[in-house]
Formats: sequence, structure tokens, C-alpha cells
Amino acid sequence: MFELNKKIKDLVPYEPISGEYKIRLDANESPFELSEEIMQKIIDVITKVNFNRYPDPNCTELTQAFASYYKINPINVAVGNGSDELISVIESAFLCKGEKLLVINPDFSMYQFYSKICEIECMVTNKDNSYKIDVNQLINKINSDKISAAIFSNPCNPTAQGLLKEDVKHLINNVNALVILDEAYMDFWDQSLINEAHEYDNLIVLRTASKAVGFASLRLGFAISNVKIINAIKAVKSPYNVNSISQAIGTTIYNNSEILEKNKKIIVNNTKMLYNELMKISEIHKNFVVFETNANFVFIKTDLCVKIFNYLEKNSVAIRKFDGFLRITSGSLEENSAVIYLINKFFVEEV
Ligand SMILES: *Cc1c(COP(=O)(O)O)cnc(C)c1O
Repeated sequence: MFELNKKIKDLVPYEPISGEYKIRLDANESPFELSEEIMQKIIDVITKVNFNRYPDPNCTELTQAFASYYKINPINVAVGNGSDELISVIESAFLCKGEKLLVINPDFSMYQFYSKICEIECMVTNKDNSYKIDVNQLINKINSDKISAAIFSNPCNPTAQGLLKEDVKHLINNVNALVILDEAYMDFWDQSLINEAHEYDNLIVLRTASKAVGFASLRLGFAISNVKIINAIKAVKSPYNVNSISQAIGTTIYNNSEILEKNKKIIVNNTKMLYNELMKISEIHKNFVVFETNANFVFIKTDLCVKIFNYLEKNSVAIRKFDGFLRITSGSLEENSAVIYLINKFFVEEV
């Protein structure tokens, strides 16, 4: 009889929050719908797609548009089917069986997930109660434990904490390991290494169109690094990983950067509002600790997380619950006001 092997036999398909919610603040997506103008541009480019042909394996036009938006050289960019695909490809190709990958928890759970599938050894170190990364401690750990690669998000999902650019550079410069720097939320902050990624021999920066850019539906992720590493990523990825429709729409979006800039500013302001209002709650309720944020969501430590999560769910609001923590994505001003109103109401009614 055929048996599933032990690394996959207990796995279950990924289930995002299911059901109908009036307000979705669970996945760090952008709250914006498309303007008429950009929708028309998208429709126009879709009509020009050659549907009978395979997509461009190099994503030439998309890479050009992405690179010019971020003022980098297209030779330093590889495109993935979401940055999720790139994480999986990089972990499986840049590390050999038995080599060690370091993750710093809490962080994006997929890092550890993919390491199990590709049979590399995943070492986990935990952040302290500030949830900040201690760079010198990390350097010691990487060097003394002979770690081949370290991966972390900056700003971090779910903690919303950011590491200054100088600290990240200090890390890259003092380890022999590959540093995979996931900047999924860096559009909301100003400490990116995207413009310097090509200067290092051991750095890969990851970006995505799913968060600030507002196109989680397209599945577009980007790796930025030196040419040697970029060519290796292009060589190991599946050739037609990014479909022609996503390439065409992605190109249009990055070539229309005014919209991106405008939406980004609104999201940053809305997040400040959400944070300030949550802080007011935390000043009254000591059991509700709100962390400062460098991203488009707020991280909260509370014993009441199951109760608050359930209360919001009952009121058709989805947020994300972790063990002892909540993560609330900043949505539109109306959505943020609604979640604040409900959390205040929760404390009146249920505590
Ligand atoms: C959302 C997220 C991603 C996934 O991005 P996709 O491009 O949608 O696959 C990667 N890393 C972090 C930290 C994220 O939060």
C-alpha cells in the first residue's frame, strides 16, 4: 500500500479565514478597489495578451516597470508567483539537505513550513519581549552554529517591528551566511535595502505586489540581488511561473506609480489612526498591550485574544489571532473605526 511520507502525511491544505465577513482585516491586504481609469487600462492590456502562447519566462516588461518604479537595475530582479514561491524556491535551491536555515520567531510562518518540505534543518531562535531583533546576538548565533542562511521579514509580520537599515547591513557584513530579507511591508517604511542589494554577495531582498501595491490577486513577488544570485533564481524556478495576465497587469500598475504613492500615504495615515485609537484602549486596559508599528497592521498582546477574536467574528469582522496575540490590518477609515468601536464595546460588555 502506498503511504504518504512522514514530512507530508499530517499536512492539511492552507485554509484562509473562510465565511462571509463585512470587514476583512485579517490578511494585511490593501483596502482599495481600482479606480475606473486604472481598471480601463487593465482591460486594455488584457485584450493584448496572447492567450495561446506561454508567458515570457523572464517577465521582461514587468521587471522593467518594477525596476524603474524602485529605481534599480532590471538585471538585479527575478519575478515569482508571489514572494511565497520565491521563498520556497530559494530555500530549496540555495540550501542543501542538512544545511541550516535560521528563523527568528515570531515571524512569517511560511519560512519554517517550506524548510520542512525541502528537508533542510530549520533552527529557531526567539525574540525577547520587545519583539525586536537583537542583531549582535543573531550574528553570534549564525556564526557559532554554522548557519547557511537566515530569513526574516522587515518590517516583521506579525510583530510590526522594524530593524533599521544600518543594523541589517551590520548583520549582512558580519556573517558568511546568505541573508534573505523579506521586505513585504517596506513600502510602508523607509529602511529598505532594495537599492543596495546588488552590492552584497550574500543578500536577497524580497518584495511583493500583495500588500501596499494592492494586488494580492495577481501573485507577484520579486527577488532583488546581485546578478549571480538572480541568474541562479531564474535558473531554478519553473520557467513559466508568472502567467501572462499577471505580467501584463503588473506592468501597468508599476508604470502608473502615482496611484501607488497616493494609496500608500492613505494606508500609512489610516494605520496611525488605528494605532492611536488602540493605544487609548491599552492605556485603560493593562491586559491589552499595543506595539508600535512600521507596517500596515497593529500587533497586540493580550490574554483576551480568543474572546476578542470571537467577539469581532460574531460582529462580522475578521482579524488574525495567534497564541496570545492579535494582529489587526489597517483598512479604510470606516473599517478601522468599526473595529475600534467594537473592541471598546467588548470591554464594556464582556470584561
Ligand atoms: C504577505 C507576506 C508575504 C507573501 O507575499 P506574496 O507575494 O503574496 O506571496 C511574504 N512575506 C511576508 C512577511 C508577508 O507578510
